[in-house]
Amino acid sequence: MFTIGCHLSVSKGYEHMGKEAVSIGANTFQFFSRNPRGGKIKKLDTKDITNFNEFASNNNIEVILAHAPYTINAASKSEKVRTFANIAMKEDLERLNYLPNNLYNFHPGSHVKQGVKLGTNFIIETLNDVITEDQKTTILLETMAGKGTEIGKSFEELNNIIENVDNNEKLGVCLDTCHIYDAGYDIVNDLDGVIDTFDSVIGLKRLYAIHLNDSKFGYKSHKDRHAKIGEGKIGIEALVSVINHPKFKSLPFYLETPNDIEGYKDEIELLKTHYI
Ligand code: FE
Ligand code: FE
Ligand code: ZN
Repeated sequence: MFTIGCHLSVSKGYEHMGKEAVSIGANTFQFFSRNPRGGKIKKLDTKDITNFNEFASNNNIEVILAHAPYTINAASKSEKVRTFANIAMKEDLERLNYLPNNLYNFHPGSHVKQGVKLGTNFIIETLNDVITEDQKTTILLETMAGKGTEIGKSFEELNNIIENVDNNEKLGVCLDTCHIYDAGYDIVNDLDGVIDTFDSVIGLKRLYAIHLNDSKFGYKSHKDRHAKIGEGKIGIEALVSVINHPKFKSLPFYLETPNDIEGYKDEIELLKTHYI
């Protein structure tokens, strides 16, 4: 089964997102766990969650992906910023327990000027603190483009975090095609090589989701500017190889391309015609 969706607005609730996804031919979706630029959280609407769970099971929505807000930075040297990351992630995960067996993606963080090592230690500290025994969600670290002082621009950096978290069974990776290409993984000319590298450094069993984006600036640019499918430097051919790769085929794919809902609908249709 081709599991494909896009980023949707959470503002009208889960059931609304489910219906919106189905209306554009999607069978999954991504949403922000809270205001992406602030941090405010909406009151938990348990009725909406019950309705969504029923809608999802009737419409083959098997998994959904929550994305943490951009304002969390677990690698910050500011204790205040780290405390916010810690509280926000805990709160998000508690809420996600109402939607069991789903995914929660976050950007590992930016070390600002302390260096990768200190920043990495702070991320590990946060994960050790937020992961609980009864957690029903898998936490994903997103592969980053390496813009500024972002941690997670290489598979080694991500693995270093995962390996050093005490209870790392519920930790995985979300691979963003735009980010890894910008970071210097050549998925256009050597997709198999990139996948083999991922497998040997992190292990494919840790890979839970793919952000499917084209890239405006491209290989090694470290820019992180997403482009519409087929309109960037990665191109349609390479992205079609990604969705059809035997090692990726069973994963959910999420579009984070610069589109309105109609644009997403068209991209989902386009990708479906190329999915073998
Ligand atoms: Fe992201
Ligand atoms: Fe992404
Ligand atoms: Zn991005």
